[in-house]
Amino acid sequence: MNSTETEHAIAVLGSGVAGLTTALTLSERGRRAVVYTDPVGSPPASGVAPALFTPYQGPDSVRFRARTEVSLTRLRALARSHPIDSGVRFGKLREYFYKPHVTHPWLEEMLGTRRIAPVPAPCVDATEDTRPHVDMLVYLPWLESEVARAGVRFVERRVRSFEEVFGLGHKKIVNCAGLGARLLTDDPLLKPMHGQVLHVPNDIGLTYSLHDDAPGGRVAYVFVFRDRLVLGGTFESGRTDARTDPAELDAIVERCRGLLRLDGFPRWDDLARARGREMAAARPTRGPGDVHEQTRVELEPRENGRAIVHNYGHGRTGVTLSWGTATEVADMLTREQ
Ligand SMILES: Cc1cc2nc3c(=O)[nH]c(=O)nc-3n(C[C@H](O)[C@H](O)[C@H](O)COP(=O)(O)OP(=O)(O)OC[C@H]3O[C@@H](n4cnc5c(N)ncnc54)[C@H](O)[C@@H]3O)c2cc1C
Repeated sequence: MNSTETEHAIAVLGSGVAGLTTALTLSERGRRAVVYTDPVGSPPASGVAPALFTPYQGPDSVRFRARTEVSLTRLRALARSHPIDSGVRFGKLREYFYKPHVTHPWLEEMLGTRRIAPVPAPCVDATEDTRPHVDMLVYLPWLESEVARAGVRFVERRVRSFEEVFGLGHKKIVNCAGLGARLLTDDPLLKPMHGQVLHVPNDIGLTYSLHDDAPGGRVAYVFVFRDRLVLGGTFESGRTDARTDPAELDAIVERCRGLLRLDGFPRWDDLARARGREMAAARPTRGPGDVHEQTRVELEPRENGRAIVHNYGHGRTGVTLSWGTATEVADMLTREQ
């Protein structure tokens, strides 16, 4: 790439789900992009997420709704156009709530949510809907190949500052570095939340996913993917490593068996007799106190026509909202042009 081409190419920092959806959205708008990715840092959260469409709300509900709608529309289109190779499919989720469930009527309408009755004790509410199941072991490599097919170049490089990237000749940067944004910004709101999952064969014939909101750090979920189940979850603030803990995984299995039993699934006790892959990563959460999804999508103009657009801090919901935040980024850069 010569210096004029570099000047016009937008540098996207990060090849997690935020970076890849951003690079693809920019390409769709006719913008050239280069993706820089850290080859040595901690594993991206995106490779570990199971993931279901789970719209946790940050403080800004107007943007949250727009992001949710855009992302759901994109994932629905992908499930139709690339049902196998994208790893995106629509499946049923049953949720059990130990405390009154507060959500948005528009979100329930979007997902076709209905109440389950009777609600098994000690839960106070239970719902069922159909939503995207995104198999990240398939989706992430697929997105990567789509981005490459769109002509985007990948560069392995641990970027240490925005000045370094401007120094390479780029005038615009999109910061999709997830937790890595801590190296690049002095954002005090960005904080890690460790999560562990266990993959097991679906030898019990489960056809729908399950989730609860059990109190005291006892949340359980069992997500159904084509060839396996993924069991979680843990939400440990402040921890950044990528290790799994045997005792924690045993506890996850016990909680998930309890969830299946609560649901009335007959073979609850056979869950996870055989075990597969164990995975862990830190989610890039952002916000004060108990707030975790104050995702930063913000334009930071610099001198001489340079600019940074931040797109990080997706917390527990990055796979869910990534197309929405990528669209916001592309809109900002289009207005900037
Ligand atoms: C156990 C678990 C379960 C989850 N379940 C769900 C779910 O069900 N639904 C859902 O929507 N979300 C879920 N999430 C959250 C989701 O995974 C994250 O919100 C999302 O992956 C964040 O994506 P990202 O691209 O911002 O960050 P990451 O995926 O962490 O990617 C960051 C990228 O930035 C690059 N990078 C970092 N620093 C630098 C640097 N200095 N220079 C160059 N590159 C750099 C890294 O190499 C990487 O490519 C889950 C996460 C975990 C861990």
